[in-house]
Amino acid sequence: MASNREAFDEARRYIAGGVNSPVRAFKAVGETPLFFASGYGCKITDIEGREYVDYVGSWGPHILGHAPEAVVTAITRAAKSSTSFGAPTVSETTLARMICEALPGCDRVRLTNSGTEASMSALRLARGATGRPKIVKFAGCYHGHVDSLLVSAGSGALTFGSPDSAGVTASVAADTIVLPYNDVDHVERAYAEWGDQIAATIVEPIAGNMGVVMPVRGYLESVAAITRESGALFIMDEVMTGFRVAWGGAQRLLNIQPDLTVLGKVIGGGMPLAAFGGRADLMDQLAPEGPVYQAGTLSGNPVAVSAGLATLTQLRSHPQIYRRLEVLSARLELGLRKAAERAGVKVYIARCGSMLTVFFQAGPVHDLDGARRSNTGQFSRFHALMREQGHYLPPSQFEAWFVSNAHTFRDIDATISAAEHAFAQLVPEPVAN
Ligand SMILES: *Cc1c(COP(=O)(O)O)cnc(C)c1O
Repeated sequence: MASNREAFDEARRYIAGGVNSPVRAFKAVGETPLFFASGYGCKITDIEGREYVDYVGSWGPHILGHAPEAVVTAITRAAKSSTSFGAPTVSETTLARMICEALPGCDRVRLTNSGTEASMSALRLARGATGRPKIVKFAGCYHGHVDSLLVSAGSGALTFGSPDSAGVTASVAADTIVLPYNDVDHVERAYAEWGDQIAATIVEPIAGNMGVVMPVRGYLESVAAITRESGALFIMDEVMTGFRVAWGGAQRLLNIQPDLTVLGKVIGGGMPLAAFGGRADLMDQLAPEGPVYQAGTLSGNPVAVSAGLATLTQLRSHPQIYRRLEVLSARLELGLRKAAERAGVKVYIARCGSMLTVFFQAGPVHDLDGARRSNTGQFSRFHALMREQGHYLPPSQFEAWFVSNAHTFRDIDATISAAEHAFAQLVPEPVAN
């Protein structure tokens, strides 16, 4: 049996960087990635046969845990009836209808294969519908590896963005305005300056990609109002929050209706499936009815749709799952906070339902600059110590941990005990003199 190290060395010969998505390489924590063989419930087993309590949950989809029976059964049944037709199937409509009924902001949706594709398409639709070129996004929010969204804030407070990746051209970046999260003033100034050129504001309503960062009271309402005032569209990227923080997502939880919504992760039940949706008059501008082109050979794939449908059906028919996730996650939050306090380690824990981040700093964290003030060295040591004790956390300070319905109180308590041990081993920072 190969070790994780051997598997990674072999992978690096044939896969760029040894991984098919960069965060999997564990570079942020300076470790070698684990290769997994199986997962059931909240436990996953690596190829060395070691078992972990999982808080990554495939980065969000596994709200029901790994391999839930209803999902496995649905996938198996669907696959036996052909994995793809490239033609409509009835279950696509069933899933689309379930999403539209749950989300106030969706009259119609279109299914895609990834969140990246969905946000790319939502932006094209916004630009097509408004006839305007520019996009407003917020530093620390991630919307997939779309060229125009891989842009970071320029050097000045109100400058156009600069490419955040080689291969993104300056001209593409110039159409993206990057502003700090949770700051309405900047949005007002950007719209005052370029309002007639802006097609949309895209935002994570509860940010999860700089670690969990909650919107401050009234922030999203103000951003939506300023955006619409100028005739631009308000896009909520709910790829992470959709059906995670509540049935119907952050838009239902916070009672804010977007013009367009981007979805992924939970709605695919662990299969490659995502979606974007919105007002009927906007969605009807997509081809074949309208002029905005968007397509996909495997979009609405029947196996992926069956997994999404089975997942959402479980969540809809057992609404107590969300209450249980809240109780489990609150217990985890409190236990971690107390454990850190006892060890004298400064942490700020941000949580919304079953997504949470332990920032290694006193906090509070309201934006990317705030998140960056965390002690990432301490996080890395904490991560390694948790991993040694069989608890698998996201390998970066700036990610959300996910609790699933397959976690039990016993699992949560085991994680708290492990954390207590890990916190105690984090040597206090030497005092500068
Ligand atoms: C994960 C994520 C995406 C990208 O989805 P992919 O399926 O990885 O392309 C987009 N937006 C948010 C908020 C996400 O969390």
